Amino acid sequence: MRTPVIAGNWKLFKTINEATVLVNELKPLVAGANGVEIVVAPVFTALSRVADEIAGSGIRLAAQDCFWEEEGAFTGEVSPSLLKDAGCTHVIIGHSERRQFFNETNGSVNKKAKAAISVGLSAIVCVGETLAERESDKTFTVIESQLMGCLAGLPAESLKQVIVAYEPVWAIGTGKTASDAQAQEVHAFIRGLVEKLFGKPHAEAIRILYGGSVKPENVKGLMQQADIDGALVGGASLKADSFAAIVNFME
Ligand code: PEP
Repeated sequence: MRTPVIAGNWKLFKTINEATVLVNELKPLVAGANGVEIVVAPVFTALSRVADEIAGSGIRLAAQDCFWEEEGAFTGEVSPSLLKDAGCTHVIIGHSERRQFFNETNGSVNKKAKAAISVGLSAIVCVGETLAERESDKTFTVIESQLMGCLAGLPAESLKQVIVAYEPVWAIGTGKTASDAQAQEVHAFIRGLVEKLFGKPHAEAIRILYGGSVKPENVKGLMQQADIDGALVGGASLKADSFAAIVNFME
C-alpha cells in the first residue's frame, strides 16, 4: 500500500503572515486526514515560520527548489541542508515553471535530487510534456528522457526518498486537467520505467503524483486510478478550504 501524498505548491504567493494564516486555517481542516501525507511548499522566506506553525500537526514542509552545492560562493542559492535547517522534509525539484523560466534541465534536476537525498530530504521530482509535445505524439518519449535524466545514477535504495510528480505543462494553471485516463496512462508508463531502471519492488513502492489544475471536483476520479498516488496542487492549495477538500478526498 502506498500512502497518498497531497502537496500544495504555493509558488510565488503569500507573505510570511499570509502563509501563517493559511496554514493555521488548514490545520483543523486536515486534522482528521489519517493515512494521507500532507505537504505544503511556501516561498523560502516563509519556510521557517511555517515550520514552527505546523510543528506537531503532521503537515510536512517542502521548499520549491534547492541548489546542489552544500555551501560556497553561490550568491542567491539555498542548499538542501539549509532547507532541512529551516524545517523542510521535502523539496520540489524540476517544476515546469523552473524549466521554462529558469533554465532548469534534467541534468540540474539530477544534481539537485542527489544533493537533497544525501541530506535526508524527499525529492518531489517533476516531469511533464508540453501541449506541442503531446499533440505531436511525443509524450512518452519526453517523459522517458526526463525521468532517465532526472534519476540517472541514483542508487536504488534512495528511491524511497523520491516522489515523482507528473505534471503535463498544458494542465498547469490553465484549468485544463488531464482526464483520469490520460493521467493514468502516463502514470502507468512512469511506473513501468521505474521498474525497468530500479526493479519491481521500487516501482511498486514509489509514489507518483498528478499535478495540473487539481481541484476538489476532480481529485476523486484521479485518485481512483491505479497508479495515481496523490496530487501536486498549485492554485487550489492557496485557500485552506479547497486544499483541505483535496486532502480529504476519501470522505
Ligand atoms: C503546480 O503548480 O504544480 C500546479 C499543478 O498548479 P495548478 O494546480 O494551479 O495547475
